[in-house]
Amino acid sequence: MKKAIYAGSFDPITNGHLDIIKRASSLFDELDVVIMQNPDKDSLFSVSERVSLIEDSCSGVPGITVSSFDGLLVDYAHQTSVYTVIRGLRAVSDFDYECQMALTNRQLCTELESVFLMTASEYSFLSSSLVKQLARYSADISSFVPKCVEEALRKVYE
Ligand code: ADP
Repeated sequence: MKKAIYAGSFDPITNGHLDIIKRASSLFDELDVVIMQNPDKDSLFSVSERVSLIEDSCSGVPGITVSSFDGLLVDYAHQTSVYTVIRGLRAVSDFDYECQMALTNRQLCTELESVFLMTASEYSFLSSSLVKQLARYSADISSFVPKCVEEALRKVYE
């Protein structure tokens, strides 16, 4: 059984995240999408709201579980005994941060391997914060996020 973790804030999940989830699901038997609770980030959606938005968005994708964790990724890896971590790359601009995170995690836990998947080019500019900004001003975000996220954002900003 090949298992991997896809960790992030997912506030909220976008079609870019979903693209990475689908790519990872074709490579691994099980993919655990984990909401890492980040005290440095003010989140728009609660953890339980983010869990259900991910569950709704991934309903057709095989082998997905959704979890949340308050702590370090390496501690989650030890807790679940899954030591493969997926990260998405959009552009060169992601590389510095992702490289720093991957090397730090490797320093903390030598078994932990980070796997980087490149997003589809149409999502390479997309981020959760961009989607939230657009939604705040009632822009059409239907091509950027799953339907359930579009509805959830509309409710927040109506
Ligand atoms: P974090 O706060 O950990 O960066 P995010 O939810 O913003 O959490 O992102 C989680 C992961 O998904 C990161 O590896 C990020 O680079 C990746 N990601 C975010 N948006 C996209 C996108 N549009 N395409 C591909 N990967 C993405």
